[in-house]
Amino acid sequence: MAFLTAWWLPATTARRTQHVPLLDAWVVHLVASVSGAFLAFLLLASFHPQGFDHGVGWVCQNLTSVFPHDPVAAAFVMIVAIVSVEAGFAGLALLLAPWGAADEPLGASARNALRNAWLHTADALPWLLLLILLVSVLFDMRRKSDLAHPFSPSLPTLTTPTEDADTPENMERLAEYNRLVDKYFAEYRRQWKAYLASRPWLVRYADEIVEWAIIAAVIWILWAVMRAIGARRHVPPIIRPPVCEACGYNLTALPMEARCPECGEPVLNSLGPANRPGTAWEYRRERGRLRTWWRCSVDAAFRPTWFGRQLRVSTRVVDHRRFLVAHFVPFFIICYAIVPFADLIAGSGPESLRYDLCTVGPGFRITGATSSLLLALICAGDIGLLLGKVYRRNLIPAAMQVAAYLTGYLAFCTLVSVALGIMAYYMSWHRWFYDMERSWGLSRGVVSFFIWLVPSLAMPITYLVQLYKGTKGARYANR
Ligand SMILES: [Zn+2]
Repeated sequence: MAFLTAWWLPATTARRTQHVPLLDAWVVHLVASVSGAFLAFLLLASFHPQGFDHGVGWVCQNLTSVFPHDPVAAAFVMIVAIVSVEAGFAGLALLLAPWGAADEPLGASARNALRNAWLHTADALPWLLLLILLVSVLFDMRRKSDLAHPFSPSLPTLTTPTEDADTPENMERLAEYNRLVDKYFAEYRRQWKAYLASRPWLVRYADEIVEWAIIAAVIWILWAVMRAIGARRHVPPIIRPPVCEACGYNLTALPMEARCPECGEPVLNSLGPANRPGTAWEYRRERGRLRTWWRCSVDAAFRPTWFGRQLRVSTRVVDHRRFLVAHFVPFFIICYAIVPFADLIAGSGPESLRYDLCTVGPGFRITGATSSLLLALICAGDIGLLLGKVYRRNLIPAAMQVAAYLTGYLAFCTLVSVALGIMAYYMSWHRWFYDMERSWGLSRGVVSFFIWLVPSLAMPITYLVQLYKGTKGARYANR
């Protein structure tokens, strides 16, 4: 069932399959992987320059030539490859585990991530089929169009000067020849461009279309897996004694007006109704999105311990995910702005700018935008594990919330780092830097690199410290 609905309705499927044993999920994954590998070979074949049919033969030939002589060695290599791919897959799944982690034993969060990642392996199949179809049709069209209208430039013939004596006439003839060569190539480029522009739209942009389809497939699959991992599921509640939120002392049977015998913190602060109201962002509908966004970003960055004591950990909270995802657009814009700006500085022409924005651009920018998510997942996983080991409690859900609310700070850091980079670049042209290079022998490039590097390194370190403090603020959470 997961085979058919997972890629379309990931959250619903995840809710229905939450009790599927891990072994069954793995078998689904295995079947999907084998079919996926088969389809991947077909996809590879469809990229063959002479067309899909030739490609299939070419792939088969290559595959059979790998296994001819030593079956034992071949089998060994196969097994090592499969085991490492499986390990990498499981590692990736565990990387996503903080997204759906709840107040539960650590193993339950890990099992949830593995189960859903395995069940969602089949999501790749429809995309692979689509890509095979797209690549073979588009590339076939291009082949046919190129055969029907080949590029045939009409260019003047050039005669190379033969005399090489150093007379003034010969020099002049050589200069004239060089001018002609320049003109020749300019004409060639002009005709090549005109030829490219004359091809049908689908043929002209075949590469770009395939690139965008691959990006769409990756985003779709990633999003489906994350929705599945984060889907609502049954989490048996953990019964804990009421503790002091400042020091963790057991407050059972103490009245509300009393103070903690260990550290003197009023019991009301730990068990009162005002304790852990949740973050401001959770009240965004009443108080306004922009205001609560600003409040959470500032609090998470500048008073993380206090912020950590506002979080609700035992109940299911998903607001922080929306907070994180909302930052994709600004991150995408920042990443989109970096390269054209660098081009502008480097003085490369509009041709390379167009190439950057349209061809290599999208994939790179989207990777930049999703790296904020990956960073949050990795850091939340690690800090949550580290603190969880110390306080014997699964602190990954708390760490994930803090990491999500720190995304605003991360975006700010990226902006500052970019601005610093541009500033350092311009500074290196200043007179002082030339003076410094002359008098102290310090390279301009190295100095400006350090002017950028030191603050840029300080920012991820402060990010980790804030995440640590915020997560620690949730270590004795009563709710
Ligand atoms: Zn206490």
